[in-house]
Amino acid sequence: MIRKMEPTLIVCGHGMVAQRFLEELMGKSSIPYRNIIVFNGESCAAYNRIQLSALLNGDADEESLALKPDIWFARHGIRVHHGEAVQAIAPDNHTVTTSTGRVYRYDALVIATGASPARLGIPGEAEWRHALPGSQRHPHPY
Ligand SMILES: Cc1cc2nc3c(=O)[nH]c(=O)nc-3n(C[C@H](O)[C@H](O)[C@H](O)COP(=O)(O)OP(=O)(O)OC[C@H]3O[C@@H](n4cnc5c(N)ncnc54)[C@H](O)[C@@H]3O)c2cc1C
Repeated sequence: MIRKMEPTLIVCGHGMVAQRFLEELMGKSSIPYRNIIVFNGESCAAYNRIQLSALLNGDADEESLALKPDIWFARHGIRVHHGEAVQAIAPDNHTVTTSTGRVYRYDALVIATGASPARLGIPGEAEWRHALPGSQRHPHPY
């Protein structure tokens, strides 16, 4: 079943970039969307990834990493579906299908799913992934 609730903005991903985008949008004097729906591949709202090292080191707690409290999303009428990733996008139909199998129609779609570093494709790359430049673990100085 297609859920049609126009005009609808769908944001795919809820990392730091998606959150920054939402905050910029909420700061506008006029917002051209009646419905704003975020599909978040993770089970918790956007957090400050940069502080992950501090969290793992015990220098920060999980609450301090949150970028906005739940009330912020409610206040702005933003629906965030945690743990519901977008699995397919049909641009011709303006629909996304999520991991629950539900299909949502959008008028505008923002893809903010992060990125993976490009691989150089050089021999031994996989074994070097933890090596630092200049490290003694480098067998060859590329
Ligand atoms: C320990 C650490 C330290 C860092 N330090 C710095 C720093 O000092 N300076 C700096 O500039 N950068 C730093 N970074 C990098 C920075 O955190 C990233 O550049 C930034 O988080 C990227 O944000 P993003 O929103 O583009 O992507 P991400 O943070 O990767 O967020 C993308 C989100 O999209 C979700 N997603 C993916 N696919 C789907 C899908 N199909 N459907 C729904 N959701 C999906 C993912 O689950 C994720 O939550 C650091 C990163 C780490 C881990």
